[in-house]
Amino acid sequence: MSSQDDLATELARTQRLLTQLTEEVKKNSGILRRSQHRELTLLHADDLAALFRQMLFGLKESYRLDAVTVVLCDPDHDIRHLLLASGAGMGEFPGLVFIDALAGLSPQYVALRRPWLGAFTRSDHQLILPRVDGEASIAMIPLRHKGKLIGSINFCSVDTGRFTAAHAIDFFDHLGVIASFALENAVNRARLRRSGFTDVLTGWNNRRYLQVRLGEELARARRDATTLTCLMLDIDHFKRVNDTCGHAAGDEVLREIAQRIESQVRASDVAARYGGEEFVILLPNTDTASGELLAERIRAEIGSMPIDIGKQESVAVTVSIGIACAAPPQSDPDLKTTGESLIARADVALYAAKSAGRDRLAVNAQA
Ligand code: GH3
Ligand code: MG
Ligand code: MG
Repeated sequence: MSSQDDLATELARTQRLLTQLTEEVKKNSGILRRSQHRELTLLHADDLAALFRQMLFGLKESYRLDAVTVVLCDPDHDIRHLLLASGAGMGEFPGLVFIDALAGLSPQYVALRRPWLGAFTRSDHQLILPRVDGEASIAMIPLRHKGKLIGSINFCSVDTGRFTAAHAIDFFDHLGVIASFALENAVNRARLRRSGFTDVLTGWNNRRYLQVRLGEELARARRDATTLTCLMLDIDHFKRVNDTCGHAAGDEVLREIAQRIESQVRASDVAARYGGEEFVILLPNTDTASGELLAERIRAEIGSMPIDIGKQESVAVTVSIGIACAAPPQSDPDLKTTGESLIARADVALYAAKSAGRDRLAVNAQA
């Protein structure tokens, strides 16, 4: 079975559990409405970023806590990559602490099978609650994956009597089970999303990924009142490369062009293989003039050197680039249409660059 099938099976399993747990939480009338609501928001978080927001900010507000952190063991940086791939920045989650190993974190971690409640002690707890200083009490709620401890959610109150060994821990236990499951589900979904979002030839993001990110970036531009610039790049006379040098050589050219583009863009830019020999690059927080500068650098970089296609042969390739920019107003109710129009305008500009002789840029000024 391919890893994608494995993921799909795993996801189906967790989706069934999700339904089951959702029903259980709804039915459990003994739990306060507020906790019930809070647990449901964890279970229904759309992606990892939303889940961490709920864990860190949602729980803090709901339970009127003075600090909340989430500690996660992530030795392969897997969860971090998935979180970044969802478009989130690490700066958004100051309370999220990733570590490579649980050993040495806090004495209570050794046997954190059930939630631990007690006094905050700087020497014991500064790694899990780095910003807390002075008198406080804490609750450490274990997070598990397949029965194994992978981290904890940590509640802190400046009220020293808020969390003590004398308190019942059932509520925290339940929250830990729900949070662990919500995390597993979000990680699985993020993995599946990513596996279906990659172009096999170039290892780049594909068109589906671009569509999702386009929506997210437009929402961000609307929220922050900034501009999003779109570059659409198409290889000139690419058919000739295939016709004269063969399909494998064509593939090699596509890979090399992807690399040359990648060498010029920032980590925050969104680059994707849009179609056969078309690439799209979204430049957040960038206006047309800056977009043109980058497009020119990419054009120059690609044309600077012939591309090696094996057997000591090389082929000179140029590209044309269409540029368009969007500045969605706060009142924009329909980002889907705005996104489609941004891509379409970049495409019109690309066509203009082709008509004007190729190996050049063209800007679609109309917004
Ligand atoms: P123009 O300058 O107008 O863009 O001309 P062109 O020849 O690049 O444009 P056209 O769209 O006619 O040709 C694109 C070619 O790209 C046709 C298609 O066979 C080839 N192509 C698309 N995907 C791949 C691929 O993955 N590998 C290879 N080798 N070729 C591909
Ligand atoms: Mg084309
Ligand atoms: Mg072409």
